[in-house]
Amino acid sequence: MAKEEEKPKVKLPDSEYQGVWIFIEQRNGKITPVSLELLGEGRKLADKLGVELSGVLLGYKVGHLVDTLYQYGADTVYLIDDPVLEQYRSEAYQVGVVDVVKKYKPEILLFGATVIGRDLASTVATELGTGLTADTTRLDIDMKNRLLEASRPAMGGNIMATILCKEKRPQMASVRPKVFKAIKPVEGRKGKLIEETINLNEEDLKTKVIEVIQEVSDKIRLGDADIIVAGGKGLQDEKGFQLIRDLAKELGAAVGASRDAVEAGWAEHSEQVGQTGTTVAPKLYFAIGISGAVQHTVGMENSEIVVAINRDPNAQIFEKCTYGIVGDAFEIVPKFIEEFKKL
Ligand code: FAD
Repeated sequence: MAKEEEKPKVKLPDSEYQGVWIFIEQRNGKITPVSLELLGEGRKLADKLGVELSGVLLGYKVGHLVDTLYQYGADTVYLIDDPVLEQYRSEAYQVGVVDVVKKYKPEILLFGATVIGRDLASTVATELGTGLTADTTRLDIDMKNRLLEASRPAMGGNIMATILCKEKRPQMASVRPKVFKAIKPVEGRKGKLIEETINLNEEDLKTKVIEVIQEVSDKIRLGDADIIVAGGKGLQDEKGFQLIRDLAKELGAAVGASRDAVEAGWAEHSEQVGQTGTTVAPKLYFAIGISGAVQHTVGMENSEIVVAINRDPNAQIFEKCTYGIVGDAFEIVPKFIEEFKKL
């Protein structure tokens, strides 16, 4: 007789953990867009669970941001305002976030998958001894088990893996920018402010910020661009890829690239769109000489309008576009440039 398979023993989560929390990332006193996007998505999760949505805001002289967070959906804001938090340092921010989490016990804690968010989320999860799903692109709630479902591309982008954190609390995830939408701010919406202190002095910290050097670039940043002109292997060589840069210049757009174009050395990694590049959601996205592999489209499928140019009528990119042009990029793109020059 076959032995009955032993079922995993899942300990039910501690019900004293309640509420959805968003780590509010601010730089130089400005809230990063991904934090507002996460408040938008967090609002849906909190409403589904019937709990409060809160923002955790750390920094120095950042109290003026609290009203904005209410307007974008937060019911409560936990604020730690202290000189040691003026510049981001993981050792200080980790102490602040871990202390408030231990005190107030949220069941879900989300971070933007930015340089800061990725760094902080991993150290906070380690300190709390809980799980973290990194770089997620979809969130939902399994209502039967009251569990966060955090999904992300896996197996080279061929499948979406949904990851659950069954036994530990809070359930943590970092979420890619541009995946979710912020709600329209509600003017005059008010919430509750809880101010906390941090038990740290400058002398306790090993890292000191001596100088902050801003990157000077006249390029439009991919993640912020309203229009992106992206090129792929179909451009054949660096000279061919120059057509992408010419069209982008004409439109005041950012340049994007497929991974194959980056690997060929025609574009920089900072220009790569997709699973291992940047996730973008511009108003207008040109995909030129790009086949439309899932690892690419996962990074641009939230674009409002997609124009694809490909000489293969069966190219996968045509399944993801608003307007598709079957033809040779070397004939079509120069015509586009010529026409846009007239405007
Ligand atoms: P191809 O697939 O070679 O497509 C070129 C296209 O150009 C073809 O459709 C062809 O019909 C068309 N073409 C050719 N000549 C012309 C012409 N004259 N005019 C018009 N069209 C023409 N890819 C990414 O882009 N971003 C990622 O972040 C990414 N991450 C990855 C992560 C993993 C783990 C793996 C395994 C892969 C990843 N990839 C990523 C690679 C991805 O799978 C594809 O290989 C890649 O996107 C293909 O690039 P491409 O479309 O430029 O090239």
